[in-house]
Amino acid sequence: MKTWVFSTESDGEAAGSALEALTKARDFGGELGAVLVGEGSEAALAQLGAHGATTVLHAADNTSSGVIAAGVAAAVEAEQPDLLIFGMGNLDRDVAGRLSARLGKPILANAVDITEDGGTWRVASEILGGSTMVVTEFAGGSPAIVITRPKVFAAEPSGGGTPTVTAMDTPDIGHADAVEVLSQHAETSEGPDLEAAAIVVSGGRGMGDEARFGALNELAGILGGAVGATRAVVDAGWVPYSLQVGQTGKTVKPDLYVACGISGAMQHLVGMKDSTTIISINKDPEAPIFGISDLGIVGDVHTVVPALVEALKARG
Ligand SMILES: Cc1cc2nc3c(=O)[nH]c(=O)nc-3n(C[C@H](O)[C@H](O)[C@H](O)COP(=O)(O)OP(=O)(O)OC[C@H]3O[C@@H](n4cnc5c(N)ncnc54)[C@H](O)[C@@H]3O)c2cc1C
Repeated sequence: MKTWVFSTESDGEAAGSALEALTKARDFGGELGAVLVGEGSEAALAQLGAHGATTVLHAADNTSSGVIAAGVAAAVEAEQPDLLIFGMGNLDRDVAGRLSARLGKPILANAVDITEDGGTWRVASEILGGSTMVVTEFAGGSPAIVITRPKVFAAEPSGGGTPTVTAMDTPDIGHADAVEVLSQHAETSEGPDLEAAAIVVSGGRGMGDEARFGALNELAGILGGAVGATRAVVDAGWVPYSLQVGQTGKTVKPDLYVACGISGAMQHLVGMKDSTTIISINKDPEAPIFGISDLGIVGDVHTVVPALVEALKARG
């Protein structure tokens, strides 16, 4: 068995999705490798090695997705991996799609689990807001190409050493490479990282307007948590897209998720329903968010949130 995992690199760190996928891929045994696009820093390589990769195929930062896909396709043809795992990052999905076309192999996306039985790969994915699980089997031969959802596997190092690094051949792909990466921008934010925070305080359209949405910063600050938002709030321009939780935003899995004035549309739920404890505040007792909440407060956010802030301040 041979599994390769795709990773980007940011500030000397391998992608969290790759470390999660490597941890999962250790279940399948055999050889584990990574494709790393980025600087190729010692720290990132050490992380990939610590999570099980013994080989790394490295492409420099700013290599276009078309060239990366062509380079990976050539390596796949030479080395015949059985399974390729990508995350949900933009480059991951861009390369995976191009690779699928080059190799003539299907992709299964949104995976929440991957299993193997006698050489047959199966992928579990959730539909209808996570209420129904679908298991799909690859019938197209190797390699199986899978895109996994964030945080479905926990990243755990296995104590592996530094992997062997090979520079990726970057073939000339002609007009298909008529794209140049001019710059990359990492959005900076104050407070804990939304995807890693143990507590997330999220707001929806029920917060009323941009100014009143700001009340959530105070609550999150007191709790030591991060602020999240629904797409309705992002579309209204109250907060940047980087705070959006849901199907087309971030997936979070905190110990505590506080949903304020959020209806509970399935596109929002898929991004937060696996939180350990969910507390919701909504003035509509029939709001769907209450269906997945551990504790529901039926009330006006403009009354309940300030009262919560005062109570927490009083406790010191
Ligand atoms: C392809 C696609 C992808 C999408 N991706 C995402 C995504 O990633 N993330 C996401 O969030 N959405 C996403 N959406 C949008 C989603 O369908 C919903 O429209 C959105 O989540 C609704 O946001 P909301 O809960 O803030 O607003 P609403 O649905 O308008 O709900 C507002 C809630 O606030 C309550 N409320 C109002 N006033 C108060 C008050 N004073 N006190 C207490 N409660 C109050 C109301 O009762 C209501 O339940 C997507 C949609 C599509 C079609």
